[in-house]
Amino acid sequence: MQITEIYKSLQGESTYAGLPCVFIRLTGCNLRCNWCDSEFSFYGGCKMSIEEVLREVARLSPPTAVSVAKPLVEITGGEPMLQEREVIPLVEQLLAAGYKVLLETSGERPLAGVPKEVVKIVDVKCPHSGEAETFALGNLAALEPHDELKFVLTDRADYEFARDFIAQHKPTGRVNAILFSPAFAKEASGARDTSHCLLDPEQLARWMLADNLPARLSLQMHKFIWDPAAKGV
Ligand code: SF4
Repeated sequence: MQITEIYKSLQGESTYAGLPCVFIRLTGCNLRCNWCDSEFSFYGGCKMSIEEVLREVARLSPPTAVSVAKPLVEITGGEPMLQEREVIPLVEQLLAAGYKVLLETSGERPLAGVPKEVVKIVDVKCPHSGEAETFALGNLAALEPHDELKFVLTDRADYEFARDFIAQHKPTGRVNAILFSPAFAKEASGARDTSHCLLDPEQLARWMLADNLPARLSLQMHKFIWDPAAKGV
């Protein structure tokens, strides 16, 4: 499989934010979101066998950790499901080795073949991502109660799209969380504050409260811990 990087950090998003996690970033994406902060993963990387990936994950986070909770591993990208033929056996082996596996995906690829134990964090692309209409609606049927749906938002039009999507498709109660996340300026560096958010979190919070939405405001925690331009964190 083609890998951009494998590293250990704190999980920055989802309901797992703040927990130690090993990230496996796969190379390649078929989308081009306007605010993408992972463009470095579109090309390059190196070929690794599943065994080599497992060894590196075990080196960074041994599955026999003295913690009660299972150690976390996230498969991300790029779009990891473009390498589904290798990703599925990889997650099966990670699960068998005792890891909790998160899969971060754009929602454009079919997800029905992903083992049910994997926690899928699935994007629904909003209009100003430049990739609206790419979400495969059939993936709603593949969601498990522990999965999470994520909307990255830049403005009111994106917010209304997400709000109306929830009203129309009613994922509430069928997933663990619906995440509303302000997009971060991709060229941001230096200050670790909300000035780099393309949509002010305070404004988003006010809209969510006014509409009484069953969604969770989700800030990208890693952008506030480290320099927003830092990679491998
Ligand atoms: S799907 Fe993810 S990796 Fe691909 S362009 Fe969009 S944000 Fe970037």
